[in-house]
Amino acid sequence: MSALLGLVALVAALLVFGRAIASKRRADQLPGARPASAIAVSDFGEIDAHVLARRCVCDGRYTSLGEGPVAGNDQLRLVRLECRDCEREALLYFDVSGTRVLH
Ligand SMILES: [Zn+2]
Repeated sequence: MSALLGLVALVAALLVFGRAIASKRRADQLPGARPASAIAVSDFGEIDAHVLARRCVCDGRYTSLGEGPVAGNDQLRLVRLECRDCEREALLYFDVSGTRVLH
């Protein structure tokens, strides 16, 4: 009987792990999730709009933890996000090569 309970627990753990991997894979395929898929913006204000529109895999909204340049690539900016519901962290890359710099 305990072997059966152990097997059930193992299957449940594998299902949870599999779902977590699938969620991460889906999140990694969204625009801006990687430097290669950085979202092109023409204005820095667009970054805030994208952050507000982005939803976590749990459907929660994100809050920005900080924004800055990407080391070694001044064409990209990186925003660190945290889900307000599940506290999952995510990164969002933006291509700022087309922005106008105001002086
Ligand atoms: Zn979430």
